[in-house]
Amino acid sequence: MAHGKILIAGAGIGGLTAASCLMKAGYDVEVYEQAPTLTEVGAGIQLSANPMHVMADLGLAEEILKFAVRPEAYVFRLHDTGEVLQAYPLAEPHERQHGAPYCQVLRADLHDLLAERARMFKADVLHLSHRVIGVAEDEKGAELRFADGSAARGDIVVGADGIKSEVRRHLVGDTPAHYTGDAAWRLTVPADRLPDDYMDQVMSVWIGPGGHVVIYYVGGGRILNFVGLVEPEEVSEESWTLKFPWEDLKSDFEGWHDDIQMVIDAADKDQCYRWSLFSRPVIETWSSERVTLLGDAVHPTLPYLAQGAAMAIEDAAVLARALREGVTMAEGLRIYHRNRAGRTARIVRESTDNRRLYHSRSVAEIRKEFAERDLGSERNQWLYSYNPVTVDLV
Ligand code: FAD
Repeated sequence: MAHGKILIAGAGIGGLTAASCLMKAGYDVEVYEQAPTLTEVGAGIQLSANPMHVMADLGLAEEILKFAVRPEAYVFRLHDTGEVLQAYPLAEPHERQHGAPYCQVLRADLHDLLAERARMFKADVLHLSHRVIGVAEDEKGAELRFADGSAARGDIVVGADGIKSEVRRHLVGDTPAHYTGDAAWRLTVPADRLPDDYMDQVMSVWIGPGGHVVIYYVGGGRILNFVGLVEPEEVSEESWTLKFPWEDLKSDFEGWHDDIQMVIDAADKDQCYRWSLFSRPVIETWSSERVTLLGDAVHPTLPYLAQGAAMAIEDAAVLARALREGVTMAEGLRIYHRNRAGRTARIVRESTDNRRLYHSRSVAEIRKEFAERDLGSERNQWLYSYNPVTVDLV
């Protein structure tokens, strides 16, 4: 039985997964979330085998499969003609090669399930309306301070408080964010607003000059998730919940294929969101003796490998194992950092590199990129074959 009290800042996908992994490992956990209610935005998320191993370890894989969609194939198309640039099977080879399925889910479905699991370990583990404004640590423990003037004390603090992390500020100070020049539109559309034969159960990726669109089913196939990457001149706030006029969405994808227009036309006009994408320098050291970070708080990434939440989930599982392995908690935090820094830096780097594939300047360049690269199932073996639950810790 592990001993120690762990305070987690943030009840996003990373913080909730960490809470369950740590409680499963025997630790006492309290999670502090700034929001007054537990909510997630209505967008889709892809979960490859690497995070799905953690979900299986928490006993959640079967539940996820009840609402997940497993894409049969990846299909890359040219933005205007729909010509297939590359296609390869996904569901069957992915599970065979990596031992867990590739799932597309609604973030809210996953988030609800993770919150329920954490509460099964401990009914009152989540403390809402607790905005962290400060962190303190000494040789005996660590403390979170909240906006309402209260505080909580434990043995260690885990900052899972996202891209604007207060816990990160405590560890490394302010980190500059640079606008990448890209922004992501996101919207969801009920599948029954589209023709019955609109799309097979595939991951459909449309590549155009200076942008791309990813469309896939979530919510058991009842909902289509649309993510559209563009290069707007003006920068806006880094926020998932910033609404933009539907007319801007329509004009950003003017000239794109009818299959794209159909989704845009079927969208609720007041439910179109656009998020500017920023990059941040890699943080070399993210743990002190008593405080550490996970997920977007420490290694936010561009979405071009769909691995941001996957990394947060991996972090959670490895953190719980590392703490068990350390003779002291401080040693556990060092083991955690040692085992996560290289992999997460590589994922962030390769996500950034992937931008080239998705943001070519012309159709000729797109053709060249796709002719030179094989995007088939052998790609990214190093990424998907990692099992956070069983990987040897060094
Ligand atoms: P968050 O989800 O940001 O959670 C942080 C939590 O901390 C929130 O609940 C917040 O309210 C809380 N918080 C913040 N500050 C405080 C504070 N001061 N006090 C208390 N609480 C606080 N990832 C994938 O793996 N697959 C995908 O397909 C995918 N698609 C994406 C598509 C796009 C367009 C983008 C932009 C991202 C995508 N991602 C994807 C990335 C993924 O969304 C993030 O990496 C993931 O949500 C990070 O989880 P987290 O728990 O670390 O942080």
